[in-house]
Amino acid sequence: MNLSVKIFIALVLAVVVGLAAGPDSLGFINWWVAPIGTIFINLIKMMIVPVVLTSLVVGMTSLGDTRKLGRIGIKTVLLYLGTTAVAIAIGFGVAGLVHPGLGLDLAATGEVKVKEAPGIMQVFVAMVPANPVEAMAKAQILPIIVFALFVGVGILQVGGEKAQILIKFFDAAAEVCYKIIGLIMELAPIGVFCLLLPVVVKNGPAVLLPLLSVIGCVAVGCAIHAVVVYSTLAKVWGGHTPMQFFKGVSEAMLIAFTTCSSAATLPINMKNCQEKLGVSREVSSFVLPLGATINMDGTALYMGVCSLFIANVFGIDLSFGQMMMIVLTGTLASIGTAGVPGAGLIMLAMVLSTVGLPMEGLALVAGIDRVLDMFRTCLNITGDAAVTIVMDEEEKKHAETATA
Ligand code: ASP
Repeated sequence: MNLSVKIFIALVLAVVVGLAAGPDSLGFINWWVAPIGTIFINLIKMMIVPVVLTSLVVGMTSLGDTRKLGRIGIKTVLLYLGTTAVAIAIGFGVAGLVHPGLGLDLAATGEVKVKEAPGIMQVFVAMVPANPVEAMAKAQILPIIVFALFVGVGILQVGGEKAQILIKFFDAAAEVCYKIIGLIMELAPIGVFCLLLPVVVKNGPAVLLPLLSVIGCVAVGCAIHAVVVYSTLAKVWGGHTPMQFFKGVSEAMLIAFTTCSSAATLPINMKNCQEKLGVSREVSSFVLPLGATINMDGTALYMGVCSLFIANVFGIDLSFGQMMMIVLTGTLASIGTAGVPGAGLIMLAMVLSTVGLPMEGLALVAGIDRVLDMFRTCLNITGDAAVTIVMDEEEKKHAETATA
């Protein structure tokens, strides 16, 4: 049986058993069941630092040779990052209107202390690690991200055989991390059951509606982002009407929706862009694979919705500064998210830990993650295609002015 089906069954079982057991069983469940959930959360946390470091270095080095990339590389990356930041903001906007999870009021195990939002200059200072090992030991995500970006740039600048050794090393290490995460995710049905059971026992049926509203927020947010941001990109800079664009990319969108993997959708996205949207081979074979690796608008939007949801559920008020922090970490985290099913959930753990939101919220999201993954992956690859047609148009204009 498929893992996501198992996780969904675990969610349903936790609800059924929790409702049947009733509040009297809370003592027993807190003593015997909840700790197993904590072990599952610890396993996920265990992988955050290694996966961030290795996958970000791989993401950076997949840019290729920094000198050769020049103009097109920088523009592409800026567009990718810009649309991603907008996506999180849309996620916040939709969740801010709908307030998923508000009123549910779960208590986290242990004390929940949301980190104070620091001033903007403090954020920049804190982003640069004086000691990367210390940052890793303390799981300080932003400094680790900055360190990883520098390592990536350093490797690209060194180039040649030496760089190849390190690229292969980080690539292999990232692969191992994904393998381990895969193994941990095999335990997700048990983890989700043990995390959710105490929640259901304590709160009764009230936990169900908020989950549906999270799905609604992610779906609506993705639709808004696609219609507003990608239609604008297509029309204003991409030389296509929104209709042409969405029609051209529709097959890839469907494949992404069903496979939940940007990486698996890459070949069909390439084909769609080249054959239906007339993008040159040269541009699409650089911009699309890069996008499948580092551009995850849907994942970022989902991080915005889910972090607000988790804050609501645990009765935490996020300040503007903390939201900005989530935009920043979420944007960077989406670079390090692999284009495979479920990768966004691990990165969500990272974003939560950066602002100090309770990890227990992950269990709620994990139960419906596959459905959320369908929407976000679909948006992820559509974003890659939108940026690709813009870059293709830019290149065509550049070629025209160069020959004129
Ligand atoms: N499944 C997504 C993708 O492949 C990544 C994620 O889990 O957010 O694009």
